[in-house]
Amino acid sequence: MPPDGGCPYDERIVRIDLHSHSTASDGTDPPAEVMRRARGAGLDVIALSDHDTLAGHDEARRALPPGLTLVPGMELSCRLDGHSVHLLAYHVDPAQAELAEQLHAITTDRLRRGRDMVAKLRELGVDITWEQVAAIAGDAVVGRPHIARAMVAAGAIASPAQAFTPDWIGPGGRAYVSRYALDPERAISLVSAAGGVSVLAHPGSPQRGWVIGDDAVERLARAGLAGLEIAHPDHDEAERRRLANLAAGLGLVSSGGSDDHGSLTGHRLGCETIAPGEYERLMSLAAGA
Ligand SMILES: [Zn+2]
Ligand SMILES: [Zn+2]
Repeated sequence: MPPDGGCPYDERIVRIDLHSHSTASDGTDPPAEVMRRARGAGLDVIALSDHDTLAGHDEARRALPPGLTLVPGMELSCRLDGHSVHLLAYHVDPAQAELAEQLHAITTDRLRRGRDMVAKLRELGVDITWEQVAAIAGDAVVGRPHIARAMVAAGAIASPAQAFTPDWIGPGGRAYVSRYALDPERAISLVSAAGGVSVLAHPGSPQRGWVIGDDAVERLARAGLAGLEIAHPDHDEAERRRLANLAAGLGLVSSGGSDDHGSLTGHRLGCETIAPGEYERLMSLAAGA
């Protein structure tokens, strides 16, 4: 019993993390393991949001521990004014033809781009092969982290993070190759047409080389964007305040998530969360929820 006779035990805090990755894209843990870790981290709700794929959801659902709710999500690759922008999408209908077509186009071009980057790295004297990268990726949607891991295995760099620099495969880097991505306004309307809701991922992350402007966010809000990911490990306190003001002004949901990639980011599920009230507001906007 609580010492004051109150009922704090009834008012348990619901913990919700709306951003995580598995081996369906560039995370290091299989979907089932991500679910197990999510519950272990004390979460009640977890979104699996792999890059450009819904492939991890079935395994995650089968492995769902009691008490944990899965929000089916993904992180769509978009490009705005030449910069990479990520859009989190939740509760989309996988059968929606146009969205499925676009996901296919994105993942197919990721393969082409992966091969091109490996060729460039080989020209720079890095002794890796496409077969090695493909073996690391397995069934996953191929991404730069898989190439980075091959570079570590070949002894070219000491840690995967070193690959994401101008020397190697960071944006504009010596072996960087651009790829097909969606215009974010189009992506938002595709997500809406598929019954889902969209949240702009890590909009204030200077580590990623570019911070999206307020006017662009306003445009996306007019196109149907539902929320901004404010609680994210890349955002400092000042950035969170800026984004919270922006979200409030535009009526957008204040979202949050850990962007856990397993050992690639350091296991951190639940380190960032969305408030329960904001989560309910977001889910109420998804027709497919
Ligand atoms: Zn992202
Ligand atoms: Zn992510």
